[in-house]
This record gives sequence, C-alpha cells and structure tokens, in this order.
Amino acid sequence: MKKIGVLTSGGDSPGMNAAIRAVVRKALYHGVQVSGIYSGYHGLMNNNIETLDVGSVGDIIHRGGTILGTARSETFKTDEGQYQAIENLKANGIEGLVVIGGDGSFKGAEKLSEKGIAAVGVPGTIDNDIPCTDFTIGFDTALNTVIEAIDKIRDTATSHERTFIIEVMGRDAGDLALWSGLADGAETILIPEEDFTIDDVVSRLNRGYDRGKKHSIIVVAEGIGSGMDVGHQITDKTGLECRVTVLGHIQRGGTPTAFDRVLASRLGAYAVEQLLQGQKGIMVGLQQNKEVATNISEALERKHTVDHSLCKLARELSI
Ligand code: ATP
Repeated sequence: MKKIGVLTSGGDSPGMNAAIRAVVRKALYHGVQVSGIYSGYHGLMNNNIETLDVGSVGDIIHRGGTILGTARSETFKTDEGQYQAIENLKANGIEGLVVIGGDGSFKGAEKLSEKGIAAVGVPGTIDNDIPCTDFTIGFDTALNTVIEAIDKIRDTATSHERTFIIEVMGRDAGDLALWSGLADGAETILIPEEDFTIDDVVSRLNRGYDRGKKHSIIVVAEGIGSGMDVGHQITDKTGLECRVTVLGHIQRGGTPTAFDRVLASRLGAYAVEQLLQGQKGIMVGLQQNKEVATNISEALERKHTVDHSLCKLARELSI
C-alpha cells in the first residue's frame, strides 16, 4: 500500500485530532503517503482531498474538534454515493482508508470495504456507545467536562438546599451519565439501560432529606428523555423545587485529556498497522488495555452495554 486516506465522520469528539496525527505519522513512518479527506464522506464524494505531511498534523494533539472537519451525508448511504467516493479514492491513488467516527461511520467503512476499498474504523465519539471497545475517543474528556460542571452545580446546590437535575449527553447510551454520576456522588442516576420509576427516585430523595441532606443531585442521561420532564414529575409528587441544567454541546468540546490523547494515538497507529497488514472492514478498539480488531459487521451486531456493576456500586454508595 503506497497511499492511505483519513477522514472524520459523524459527531466530532475531543481526541480526533490526536487520532489523525497518529494515522499520518504512523503511515509516514512506514513510508506510506497520506491524504486528508475534509468533511467526512461528503467531502470524499466531492473530492475535497489534500495531502497531509508530517508538519500538517503538528500542534494539533492538544486541540479539540477535528482539523479535517466532519459531516453527515445521506447521499453516501446510497450505492451511487459510495461508487462516487470510490472513484475519487482511485483517482487520488488512495488504496486504504481510516475512518474516525461512530457506528454510522463504521457502516460506511464496511460498505466501502465490500466494494473493494480497504477501510478501517477508529471509534471516536463522546458517547462510549460502540461495542468491542472498552472506551471510545472523547469519552474521557466529555466525562471530565461533565464532572467539572457538576462540581460547580454542587457548590450552589449546597448553598441553596435544592434538588438539582443535570441532563447529560450519550444518545441511547448511559455511560456518560453513569460514570459522571458515580464520579460526582450523585444521589440518583437515570440511564436507559436500567429500569426506574419516579416513585423510586422520590423515595431516595426523601430518604436523603430525612437524614438531613441539604441538597440532592440527579444525573439524567438524554437517552431516557428530558431532565425537565423528570423535574416536573418530581415536583408534582413532592412539591420540591427542582433546578434543571442541560449541559449540551460543551460536552463535545475542549482540550482532550491525557487518556484520550493516548487512546487516540494507540488506536490511530493500530488502524494503520491493520491496513498495512491487509485488513479491511474492521474496527479497532481497546479491550483490557490491549489494542484489538473486530469485523465491523460482527461488532455492530452486538449491542453496547453499560457495566451494570457500576450501577450497583453507585446505588450502594449513595445511600
Ligand atoms: P455519532 O455517533 O457521533 O453520531 P456516527 O458515525 O454514528 O457518529 P452517523 O451520522 O450515524 O454518525 O454516520 C455518519 C455518516 O456515515 C452518515 O452521515 C453517512 O454518510 C455514513 N453512514 C451512516 N450509516 C451508513 C450506512 N448504513 N451505509 C453507508 N454509510 C452510512
């Protein structure tokens, strides 16, 4: 393989730049040229492609977002879109592709591999919702952003003796809510992977206030619905005033943590190794601190699950 391409696709996440850098530097280390594809599959179909050299990925390891930009494209989901992309890859002499993104982006990588272009997926999303990897690039940074926000809310919660509800991102996955709730000692964590009733939430709240607690923090994953709804339901049942904070897109930005930079460096480099070994249609990930490769079709058949032992631990510690 003489030349590979790299693109970022779907939602951006902190650490994507560190992954791009790793792909470029690892390939160049092995004497393989790299093309950067701008704006994901949309840019690929529109031939928005430039050569990346050693210097073009300098000074980006610490920056959030993605220097290549990202996009979503409905056209790419069609055969015509994919053949247009392949035509451009061939015209640019690109023989393999690293796709940094979420599960939707991986499906695109799988389609390209089926049509003859070797593509490898690198998991980049703050949601940590991809099977076959313990962590996705960006999750740790988002987690730390959430924790910093909850710490601040906790200060005012203590001063005002109120019930605070914090809605965090994660799409259908509860990881971000679970880990941030555990790390911040939230009284209650509501995630889609665990059943709950508002009566349970209320009885936990009452138990806390009965033993003299001054405030309560409830972390709600966006996957269960809106934090505002949860607040209204609690107020209806208890008369307690709830303050709701929806953290929103601040969770997607910021300087990547050391963990995300190292994860991105390892997975980006490993993806290039896999391509150079002739692999295609796979995703790379980290399992028990080891880089692993899994067929995308096999990975996407599995469903990501939260670690239920962490849910139990959070409940035990917030009595
Ligand atoms: P995030 O989890 O951050 O949303 P994602 O990669 O899952 O990231 P999607 O919007 O689902 O984000 O997918 C990104 C792009 O991948 C889509 O806009 C589309 O171009 C391509 N894609 C998604 N699904 C498919 C598919 N089934 N076949 C071909 N391409 C796809």
